[in-house]
Amino acid sequence: MIDLHCHSTFSDGALSPEDLIQRAIKHNITCLSLTDHDTMEGYSRLLKAAEGKPITIVNGIELSVRWKKYDLHILGYHITSTDEMAQLIDSQRTSRITRAHQIGLALETKGISDAYQKACIIAGHQHVARPHFAQLLVHEGRARDMQAAFKQFLARGRPAYVPTPWVSLEDAVACIHQTKGQAVIAHPLKYGLTRTKLHELINVFKEAGGAGIEVVSGEITSTQIKEMAGTATRFNLLASSGSDFHNDKGSRIPLGRQQQLPINCTPIWHNWTI
Ligand code: MN
Ligand code: MN
Ligand code: MN
Repeated sequence: MIDLHCHSTFSDGALSPEDLIQRAIKHNITCLSLTDHDTMEGYSRLLKAAEGKPITIVNGIELSVRWKKYDLHILGYHITSTDEMAQLIDSQRTSRITRAHQIGLALETKGISDAYQKACIIAGHQHVARPHFAQLLVHEGRARDMQAAFKQFLARGRPAYVPTPWVSLEDAVACIHQTKGQAVIAHPLKYGLTRTKLHELINVFKEAGGAGIEVVSGEITSTQIKEMAGTATRFNLLASSGSDFHNDKGSRIPLGRQQQLPINCTPIWHNWTI
């Protein structure tokens, strides 16, 4: 099994890098990429934990980017550290922390005291993501579940929604490309784009140096996989596959247990040495 999309405690996942490796070995994963949100801090521990184990680690990241009015996720693989990349990640981190402070303030006006500090405790770090605030809202009895927390407080148009100055799609993809890495559009069907818009996005993405799309991602249906495989072929994009595993709760699928890539597409790993 190959799993090129998952999260650790360094972003909004529940497992430490060490536990992820243990889980990956148990699930017969031979190639794993940890794609934490806007950070690669988990890698030193992940690589150490993988030493001597029958598993290949491919470095990865999931960047939040802006394209038109949409917040999208771009995966980057095989990134080599350049000053530009380090700067991009640093500015994403600053944006995330600023946003988290603002979300915290907005929640305080809704009666939740010290929201940012509490979210930091849940996260175990300061570059808090929205799911951490959702967990806090559930914990404080202000929302029934994570989904309700987003719907009532955190989603666009809700009281604690804070627009974030993420890097542009074009700049993020170009930066990944320049480090000899490969950029992939994460879960392309999760943004509510019309097919026309999705195809427009793909053209802009390719123009900027993008390499692939995630044909198989998390809970995607077989019909959707077929469609995305067709899209990959049509636009001459490589196909990626990942579980987007965060934790054992919720409806997300287990590490490495996503469906297979259809045989008509070219896997992004086709010329990797794994
Ligand atoms: Mn996440
Ligand atoms: Mn994502
Ligand atoms: Mn993800």
